Amino acid sequence: MRTTGSLACSWITVEAAKKITQEHTLPSEIIHKLMVFMVDELGLSAIRIHQPADRSVNSTQITHERLMTKDIPRRLNQVIIFSPEFVRYMKQSDSTCRIFDSESEPNPVNGEVNQGTLSLFMRQASGDEFQGLLELTFPSENRYPSEKDMDVLKALKELLFEQIAIYESKRRAESNKDSGEVLDYLSGLHRYETFLENIDRAIPKYVDENHQIVIICSDINHFKLVNENFGYRKGDELLRASGQLISAADNLIDACRFYSDNFIFATITENSKDEQIRAKLESMNKKNAGILQNIVSDVQVRVNSGVYVIRDVKMDAASAISYANSARKKAKVFNGMHCVIFTEEMIEEMRRADELNDELPNAIKNKNLMVYYQPKISCESEKITGAEALIRWKRENGTFVYPDQFISEFENNGNIIRLDYYVYDEVFQFIRKRLDEGLPVVPISMNVSRRHLENEDIMFYIEHLIDKYDMPTEYIEFELTESIYIDNVETALHFISRCNQMGIKISMDDFGSGYSSLNMISSIPIDVLKIDGVFMHRGKDLNKNDKIVLNNVIKMAKELNMAVLCEGVETREQVDFLKDAGCDVIQGFYFGKPMPEPAFEDFIRQYS
Ligand code: C2E
Ligand code: MG
Ligand code: MG
Repeated sequence: MRTTGSLACSWITVEAAKKITQEHTLPSEIIHKLMVFMVDELGLSAIRIHQPADRSVNSTQITHERLMTKDIPRRLNQVIIFSPEFVRYMKQSDSTCRIFDSESEPNPVNGEVNQGTLSLFMRQASGDEFQGLLELTFPSENRYPSEKDMDVLKALKELLFEQIAIYESKRRAESNKDSGEVLDYLSGLHRYETFLENIDRAIPKYVDENHQIVIICSDINHFKLVNENFGYRKGDELLRASGQLISAADNLIDACRFYSDNFIFATITENSKDEQIRAKLESMNKKNAGILQNIVSDVQVRVNSGVYVIRDVKMDAASAISYANSARKKAKVFNGMHCVIFTEEMIEEMRRADELNDELPNAIKNKNLMVYYQPKISCESEKITGAEALIRWKRENGTFVYPDQFISEFENNGNIIRLDYYVYDEVFQFIRKRLDEGLPVVPISMNVSRRHLENEDIMFYIEHLIDKYDMPTEYIEFELTESIYIDNVETALHFISRCNQMGIKISMDDFGSGYSSLNMISSIPIDVLKIDGVFMHRGKDLNKNDKIVLNNVIKMAKELNMAVLCEGVETREQVDFLKDAGCDVIQGFYFGKPMPEPAFEDFIRQYS
């Protein structure tokens, strides 16, 4: 017999466990996270939750299990019949815990005398009703828990069973709703909660030195367009077909529809490198997109995926899914890349994004966010005809942060609105100052985020700034990226027509960088088409095909009465080509990088 000592649990706090219950909403996820937390913090070899198989203590069924070593057999879903001695013990209401030193007595679950483990059984009851057991297995180096440890363990057990009760009642409610069906009615796949449980079970079963579980979050690009243009029937058809295609994936473990057009599925692979996994999925996505294309021939179907590869048995399904989902969001912005694998660097990126979110209010207050201006040059005269306002962030430590590191994160969490309002105000102030001083003024364009188009505030704000600075509207312009038009056709049109009425020009930014809908250009009143810098290949010579595309896009824009601006121009050769092609305005490093206000004022002096 070992002596009573202290378990690692002297370090574990009930507060930390409670925090988990506050941070998550799905009970199955909370149960899972709590189990992972206990395993990690207590250095457990295994944790199991038993629920009564009948309402007595004679038998239980193991409903949750997490094993940290392969020496302990898997018993998930198994019904356990206990020895009369154990039952007697567990019935004593005042004594709710029982420790088995497996070196000296048989474990009541497997009946074996196991070397090297120590099992602690804790009974959960409400009044007379037996609700289950929590079984914790420690490596035998751990000594018996002290009384203080036991108080902590009991509190954790209460927390865990509280969540189980919530989960069970939700599940009962759900199954009453649709008569026990755990499938998503549309796609025929599992629901998220079932999927989560299945993957948690699969991780210890399959993951080892030679096998990985690949978690894939997929969605269909611009699915909304399908619903809007072809009706929900077509949309549903597309989702059903997607579900079928996913069910047919090689080595599938399980799949679910998360929400809308977001699917998650898991496959098992043998000894694969990230790049192999990516290439395989990329071709699966292409193939599936081709099949789905038959359903909606008028919209370009593209399937995006984010992937997390589970190589560690300690990983839990919920975390793996959230990593895969972050990677999926990248797949949307990485051009041409349909499938992105989550990497360690992305964890670092997420951490940095959190940091920037926290710093934003102070950065605005302390003017650490600065508006830079990049000149726009007329092709004809090679004089300045305008500028674009671009944000730069100088952090307290003196380093600069560029928009690609925070804009998309701020778009997701809505902070972009605060940031842009700040930019707009700075730009208006700058123009007002020059007007008051009688200096030459050029129109300045400002970027509009898709988030602005979710309500009408932006219009009120712009009107407010025009009043406040008594601004002639010919000096301000707004840039909307091409994807904004696609995701928010109605609101974009409304915004543009209000701007038109007020005499504010609108450009379509980043044209040709992503999903371009040519028929949309003809139906939206845009003043300037900004051809994306990707065509300029960072200063490399333009090839024959680039020239054909550029010539024709410029020609088309002219025929539609739009001015054409080309971004990202870095060389004289490019300038000369664009001039010949009929481009009106050039923006790029060749004439000037984005620069702070004083440098920009010098630039205006030189190039006016
Ligand atoms: P954008 O609106 O398309 O801006 C043009 C981007 O191209 C700028 O990057 C600019 O620095 C870069 N660029 C300009 N000329 C050249 C060139 O010759 N070569 C190369 N390689 N790059 C060139 P930046 O400033 O990093 O901004 C990136 C994007 O972030 C912008 O793309 C815009 O979408 C967004 N953004 C920047 N500032 C703001 C802002 O204040 N509000 C909002 N909502 N978005 C912003
Ligand atoms: Mg822009
Ligand atoms: Mg652009």
